[in-house]
Amino acid sequence: MEVGAPLRAAFTNETMRRRDFNFALIAAASSLALRRMQTPLRVNGTRLNSNLKALSEFGKNPQGGVSRVAYSDADRQGREFVMQLMRDAQLDVTVDAAANIIGKRKGTDNSIPPLLFGSHIDSVPEGGNYDGDVGSLGAIEVAQTLAENRIPTRHPLEVVVFQNEEGGLIGSAAISGQLTEKELDLVSRSGKTIRDGIKFLGGDPTRLKEVNRSSGSIAAYLELHIEQGGILEQEKIDIGVVEGIVGINWWDVTIEGFANHAGTTPMNQRQDALLAAAKFIEAVNRVVTSVPGRQVATVGRIQALPGAPNVIPGKVVMSLELRDLDGARIASLYQQIRNEANQIAAASKTKFDFKEINVNVPAPTDARIRKLISDSAGELHLKTRLMPSGAGHDAQDMARLAPVGMIFVPSIGGISHSPKEFSRPLDIENGANVLLLTLIKLDRATL
Ligand SMILES: [Zn+2]
Repeated sequence: MEVGAPLRAAFTNETMRRRDFNFALIAAASSLALRRMQTPLRVNGTRLNSNLKALSEFGKNPQGGVSRVAYSDADRQGREFVMQLMRDAQLDVTVDAAANIIGKRKGTDNSIPPLLFGSHIDSVPEGGNYDGDVGSLGAIEVAQTLAENRIPTRHPLEVVVFQNEEGGLIGSAAISGQLTEKELDLVSRSGKTIRDGIKFLGGDPTRLKEVNRSSGSIAAYLELHIEQGGILEQEKIDIGVVEGIVGINWWDVTIEGFANHAGTTPMNQRQDALLAAAKFIEAVNRVVTSVPGRQVATVGRIQALPGAPNVIPGKVVMSLELRDLDGARIASLYQQIRNEANQIAAASKTKFDFKEINVNVPAPTDARIRKLISDSAGELHLKTRLMPSGAGHDAQDMARLAPVGMIFVPSIGGISHSPKEFSRPLDIENGANVLLLTLIKLDRATL
């Protein structure tokens, strides 16, 4: 007993120590699990903003922005950088025949259509560091966050970086089957034709049919983007929930009058095309502001011929542009403008001719996705507002194939397509978190 007691005591102490140790281990492990459950899933904003900074080195211009036009060397180098970020995010990276970059991640059910999200990284000449880049790197950051936290999704995911957005939504047009042979021969801002540009980026313009996806083959498309206008900043709102991308209709308007001597032709005998044009421009403004709504109309280009101080203008060629979310409204405003033109023509003895140049149909976003975006922003205690996108985006091509959603973050001073373009790091992080939470909700929802 005398001998046994300390032994037993020692044994007991050892057991206790082990038991404490085990208990401590269990406690630590469960607190880690608990912390995982309690720490809400968020992107790494510091990493996202530093990646944006790194991307801005490719095609950097002296004014502080980038000139990374599609198919330039800078574009190709920027894409290499982005593809490496995608691989780091454990995405399976490919370049499709239209030269879009696609980073895939498997779902738990690969028999269902994928969820797509992304943007573009090409810029206008003397552009900024945020247009397209925020959405592209935001999407990669979301994929990285899912990978690091080992969050599975039911849908397969595809992060898409569309090529040549600024030159006419070329990459997304290929996916939606709208890219024509004629467009392939257009010379882009890089000096290369689109056809040569696609080859330059590793695509194959002879195999474009392969990238054309059918309606229903994509579960949904999400895009994060800077607002490019000043409403969110002015109203101190964190997140814009995009209602849709406005339709844009362009016409060339030609007015035929009669060119005559400015000194010898009395005022009541003139057929002054420029005077008719002036009345027309006023009428366009009057018609478009006569009804409530956010429709806009612009006459942005005008040329009077022959263009001499001492000759009554015999001919005017000008542009007319109408934008709205509702195609029917555009059509009705256009009809009223035509009626006004008829009256002006009769009164001024001139002739108006309207030639349709370009039509981009409005692309409404999906109401269910808009709600998921608002709910996600709400969870993050961010203020939202619904707003149209007055600028074009790849999302409008994707809207032909799938329900789409767009998330806007503020552009300081409403400046875009300029080296002065700026979005605050926190706003960018917020936008990426909204993208993350929306994607997860979308994955669980059945649209
Ligand atoms: Zn853009």
